[in-house]
Amino acid sequence: LFKLWITKKENKMKKLFTAALVAATALTSFSAMAKPKIGLSIDDLRVERWTRDRDYFVAKAEELGAEVIVQSANASEATQIQQIENMITKGVDVIVIVPFNGKALSNVIEEAKAEGIDVISYDRLILDSDIDLYISFDNVRVGEMQAQGLVDAKPKGNYYLIGGSQLDNNAFMFREGQMNVLQPLADKGDIKILGDQWAKDWLAEEALKITENALAANDNKIDAIVASNDGLAGGAIQALAAQGLVGNVVVSGQDADLQGIKRIVDGSQTVTIYKPLKLIAETAAQVAVDYAEDKKVETTKSLDNGKKEVPAILLDPIAVTKDNLDETVIADGFYTEAQVYGKE
Ligand code: BGC
Repeated sequence: LFKLWITKKENKMKKLFTAALVAATALTSFSAMAKPKIGLSIDDLRVERWTRDRDYFVAKAEELGAEVIVQSANASEATQIQQIENMITKGVDVIVIVPFNGKALSNVIEEAKAEGIDVISYDRLILDSDIDLYISFDNVRVGEMQAQGLVDAKPKGNYYLIGGSQLDNNAFMFREGQMNVLQPLADKGDIKILGDQWAKDWLAEEALKITENALAANDNKIDAIVASNDGLAGGAIQALAAQGLVGNVVVSGQDADLQGIKRIVDGSQTVTIYKPLKLIAETAAQVAVDYAEDKKVETTKSLDNGKKEVPAILLDPIAVTKDNLDETVIADGFYTEAQVYGKE
């Protein structure tokens, strides 16, 4: 009888054990099924570079087993806030944001944080908000490289500055870097800074208008245009073309947009700044997935965003001229030789 009782008990234990095992397996497979969910909110996918950021980011995040919801605000503050709210409702674990207006997201980020969502500020710093990480390039360095590229080509002359959107913190960092190089030369009298402007929403049309007015006001006596990105450079060069000045005036840019690179080849633009987008996007995707899985992320730098010292990852930009085009953007696989030199 005792033996029978033991056997019964054993059977019961076995059953219990099996049940526990089944439950544990179910739990594990349940958590394996719960993919990390990441929201990617981009200011403006109509600008070439951001489509590449998106593609690299999504590919990497998916490779790491995550699901990504992408939205473009097309330069609208209200749309971006609404899209982020929507991501919160959809239960994302992490939101990665390229802000249109770096000063307008404090409230919606507070909502996200209240839901336990981590927030990553991508390329542009979000100000006055409790963000978890800032990932970008050294943007002051970008500005220094832009100005240096022009000064190397035109050490003396009249300079005109066209900055980006004043809602974008980067625009000020680029300008700061440009002035680090230009101010000492202006003080020495080597160059003269005729004026400086900001292009609303980073629009090429704005740069076109600004350049037309600057040329008119200075009897076409401009030697260098410090344009803060390739889109603005394109607008400025269009205005130069109308006055037959293309090639005589040195022009900077940024992003290594295909058109910018082609202009460097044909000599209408002097320098662009290449920022390895695959690197920033894939690093950000990895960090986002790590956050979603509650892993720690190590950073060595930080930046004050008005609310806190934000841990930062800042990557190195690369200046590109005719001289190093092959060993930079082409060697890096950003473009093929056919794209750069061919008729595509
Ligand atoms: C980015 C540039 C870009 C510009 C316009 C800046 O914040 O750093 O790469 O050209 O925005 O979209």
